[in-house]
Amino acid sequence: MNLPSILSPERILEHCRPAAQAVTVKVVDETGSTNADLLASLPELTTPMLLVARQQTAGRGRAGRSWLSEAGKSLTFSLAWRFNLPVQSLVGLPLAVGVAIAEALAMFQVSVRLKWPNDVLYQGRKLAGVLIESASAGHVPHEASWAVIGIGINMAVNEQMAAQIGRPVASISWLADLDQDMLMATLLNALSDALVQFEHEGMDAFTQRWNTLHAYTGQPVVILDHGQALHEGMAVGVDRIGRFLLDTAYGRVAVMAGDVSLRAKEN
Ligand code: ATP
Repeated sequence: MNLPSILSPERILEHCRPAAQAVTVKVVDETGSTNADLLASLPELTTPMLLVARQQTAGRGRAGRSWLSEAGKSLTFSLAWRFNLPVQSLVGLPLAVGVAIAEALAMFQVSVRLKWPNDVLYQGRKLAGVLIESASAGHVPHEASWAVIGIGINMAVNEQMAAQIGRPVASISWLADLDQDMLMATLLNALSDALVQFEHEGMDAFTQRWNTLHAYTGQPVVILDHGQALHEGMAVGVDRIGRFLLDTAYGRVAVMAGDVSLRAKEN
């Protein structure tokens, strides 16, 4: 068996289409958090930047949660992207990113589903997580913004890590046998195309695509706020601004992303 390549900026860019060619690509052996590194470099960035870490030791999730990964067994990277949009226009961005990841994985015949707001599920379990952190940019803070889009994809999860996560986890081990530069470039191409489209068309370009990929359409779900059930109902999908819709006993409710979590309801 050929050993998979171990990620190089030149080889990643060789596989990239025009929208992604403008991205500066950097690969490091190890870092704490690719999101933290890119957020710290934002003041110096003049082009979009992809930072790939062969190993990430302090990966972050939403609200201070952590994302676990292991060298050679996960793909961990962040993409810093500048939008000519104010920060508040980026609320639907995690959904557009989920669509891009799903469409990239579909090129490898991997069929995933999306869990609102920011998870990618494979066979009902979490395969990938997305964390987006954003900042205003430019002299006029309202006209432009940077988003740092962190993504972790499981290729293998050992027992110890699964126990530490304590929730159902998915992995696809043969992804680690693919040419990693080509896999990374496929993701970067899909993301770059999606981000350009998001800037021009906003959520309009993604609502229907997201709903087609939705994991829980028509299923009972619970929205949790700090562990407390906020709403229970039948999952509908997302609306044109990226809010999650569910039909409850008191009518249709639209939920904004904040720090709420969605769970399939156990019967
Ligand atoms: P929720 O499901 O409550 O909405 P979340 O999915 O938004 O939470 P994130 O902040 O996106 O959570 O991701 C962090 C969470 O993901 C951790 O708290 C842990 O439960 C889980 N997790 C951490 N590492 C992994 C991993 N490698 N694979 C799958 N899940 C993981």
